[in-house]
This record gives sequence, C-alpha cells and structure tokens, in this order.
Amino acid sequence: MNLNMGHHFLQDRESNAKTYTRSFNKVFIKGNLCQITDSEGKEYIDCLACAGALPLGHNHPYIKQKIIDYLNSDGMQQALDLATPAKIAFVESLYKMLPESFASTAKIHFCGPTGADGVEAAIKLFKTHTGRHSILSFHGAYHGMTMGALSLMGNLNAKTSLSGFTPEVQILPYPYTYRCPFGLGGEASEQTSLLYIRNCLSDPESGITKPAMIILEAIQGEGGCIPASAKWLKGIRELATEFDIPLVIDEVQTGIGRTGNFLAHQIADITPDAIVLSKAIGGSYPLSILLYHEKYDSWHSGAHTGTFRGNQLALIAGKATLDYINENNLLDHVNQVGSYLKHGLFTLKSKYPCIGDIRGRGLMLGAEIVDVSSTNKTPKGDGILAKAIKMACFANGLIIETGGRNSAVLRFLPPLVISEQEINQVLIRLEKSIIEVLNHNK
Ligand code: PMP
Repeated sequence: MNLNMGHHFLQDRESNAKTYTRSFNKVFIKGNLCQITDSEGKEYIDCLACAGALPLGHNHPYIKQKIIDYLNSDGMQQALDLATPAKIAFVESLYKMLPESFASTAKIHFCGPTGADGVEAAIKLFKTHTGRHSILSFHGAYHGMTMGALSLMGNLNAKTSLSGFTPEVQILPYPYTYRCPFGLGGEASEQTSLLYIRNCLSDPESGITKPAMIILEAIQGEGGCIPASAKWLKGIRELATEFDIPLVIDEVQTGIGRTGNFLAHQIADITPDAIVLSKAIGGSYPLSILLYHEKYDSWHSGAHTGTFRGNQLALIAGKATLDYINENNLLDHVNQVGSYLKHGLFTLKSKYPCIGDIRGRGLMLGAEIVDVSSTNKTPKGDGILAKAIKMACFANGLIIETGGRNSAVLRFLPPLVISEQEINQVLIRLEKSIIEVLNHNK
C-alpha cells in the first residue's frame, strides 16, 4: 500500500473521536526542532509542539544522542516501578530543579504515562488522606479525559453525553479577566472570585462539604490560555491553608519552563501541596508524575499502580531535557522570545480589531479572536473566524491550535528553543493568513 492509499485507509478507519488530524490533514514524515515536514515536502513551523509535549522540539540533537546512547547500552526499556540508573538520575535532576521549599518534603509517584492519570492519582491520594469526598476545580479547567479527571473539567464538549462522574465536584469561577464571570474584569474579577470561594468554604449553607482538594492550572491551557495573577494564586493558597484543604497545581501543560518559570505557579512564590507533571517532563516521551508533601503519603502499596510507569526512554529524555534547560539558561530564552512573540501579537492586535485579547506568559500565549460586529462591551468570541485563520495558517506553513470558549483562542505553544528569526516567520505567516481570511470574508 502506498502512503496516499494508506492515508485514505487510515482516514476511513480512524475513530470519529480523532481531533488534530481533522485540521492538519496531511501525513507528517519528519520533524526538526520547530519545523515539521509533510509527505509532499511542505514545511511548517510547529507552534503546537504536540500540545506542549516537545519542550525542545522535534529530534533535538542533545536528546536524540542520549536516547541513541541509551539504546546502545542495552538498558531496560520498561521497568514497571523498579529502580534503574535512568530513574535515579531523573529523580536527582528533577529534585534539583524543583523549588527548594517544595522539594525538601516532596514525595514522588510515577503514574501511568498521561497527564490524566497523574490527576487521577491526586484525586485518590487526597480522598484517601482526608477521608473527604468533594473536590473544587474551576470553570475552563482541563485535567484530562479519564472519568475522574473529566469530572473536574470545565469544557462540556466531552462531558455532555456521559454520566457517572466523580460526585461532589464543585466548579468555581476562574479569574478570566477578559470575560469576567462576574461582569467586572481586571483586579475586581480576581478579588470577587476569592471572595466567592471564601464564601463557599465558610458558609454553613453553601451546600459544599469540606473538599479533599482544590485543583487548578496557574495558566489555564485548553480553557483558552488564561493566566491567573500572582495575587489570585496567593489568595487561593491562603484560603487553602486557612480552610485546611490540600492545593494541587496541575502543571501538566505549564510545567518545565513553558511559561518562563520552571513551574508556572512560581510567579506567586507559593508552595502547593501537590503538583502534577506530564507532557514536557518526559522530554517528548510519555511520562507522568505526582509530587506531594510527604505528610499526605498515607495511601497503601498499590493504591495507584499501572504497567507503563517505568518508560526508561522517557526518564532518559526527561532528565536530558531538565539538564538542557538548566545548563543553557533556557528559562531566560523563553522569557526573551516569549516577550518578543507577545509584542508581535500585540502589534497585530493594534492592526486587526478581530484580535480582541492577547495573554499568557513565556511561550504559552493566546490571541482571542472576536466578532467585531458584536455590540457587547466585550465582543463575542468568534470560533469560526479563529478556525478560518488556523486553517489559513496551516496552508501558509504554520501550525497553531485553537482552544478556549467556542474555540476562539489561537494558541501558541512552540518548542522552547524557538528563535527570534522563527518567531518573525510565525508573525509574517499569521498576518498573511489573517489578511487572506478577512479579504475572503469581505
Ligand atoms: N492537565 C492539563 C493542564 C492539560 O493541559 C492536559 C492535556 N492537555 C491534561 C491534564 C491531560 O493530559 P493527557 O492528555 O496527557 O492525559
């Protein structure tokens, strides 16, 4: 079967639940750092980076060499949760990079290799430890597609046709200042969110039993690249401490330098009770871990197990990625090129009113596309226009994904090693695409 026929067969047979391949409907044959190439030889700048799972991009030579060396060493490929040199070295490197206040008491649990499984582990750990049943999460949250993680999610798309979710999950307003759930905006939106949550926790008639945990993303990713401010994160930490509720930060998408800090919550200088990491932590291979304060380590042996918790290639690539970030001051680079991209996006916003908001930090940025004919104070999000721009970008050799409410947010998640020259290209191709779509819609 040739590639074209094979692709048709795959398209015909692959599940209706497929996603990315619907928009980016080509056969991709090569990846080189920020660039991927399809079977017709067309090159694309990859600002999706496998939903953030490729921190150093495709086939980074440093990671590639570590993998080749490991394969040549005949080390184990999979090892359940057995001790191996790769695992020991990974844990050492990770603990060196975690904030000291957290690392000094942190336990680590290796989960099945997806972010969702890390979240499942957190749910089990904190329900076991506290003996409580309810959980607090946030509108717009994305924690994964398994039933427990899905129960905590804002997005209704994957939930509406299902039942049997984890009961007693309370979903609270996140400080989405551009579209404030309280109709306020700015700092008032954050203060009101905190006030509301305080009320939920202290009102004896709030209907919410004392929660086993609060889980949040410091910048919501799939929810539309919505950053929480340091002030709000501090406020949540204070509430969690005051009401004795473990605070779990889901750093699956934001972790390992994506936002310009090693972990996104570090902008608030707070210490969570637990952190979930996946995606980038495996240096482009599947890996998922839950880190938590040792005082919560009250579950029993086998309380959260799984076969693929010892992917040695992920441990090798994960450690190599951590070392590379450290040794090459990659966080400085992320901050520098992230500001450069953000500035470029703001310039486009000043030229094209259909860009309603630019937000995010580091290399986790979003541009919310709005309907300029809308008479609302904050114009309605325009998912159709956003999709048209995304597809025009694809035709122009740029891969960006949409997300957020009504999929109206263009999301930029390039590899952390992207250069200013490549960002110039991203901006040129994006602008060209916007112009084409606006001309077509005239
Ligand atoms: N948490 C966050 C914040 C995520 O962005 C994602 C994936 N987009 C997940 C959890 C779930 O990870 P996975 O798809 O690997 O299960």
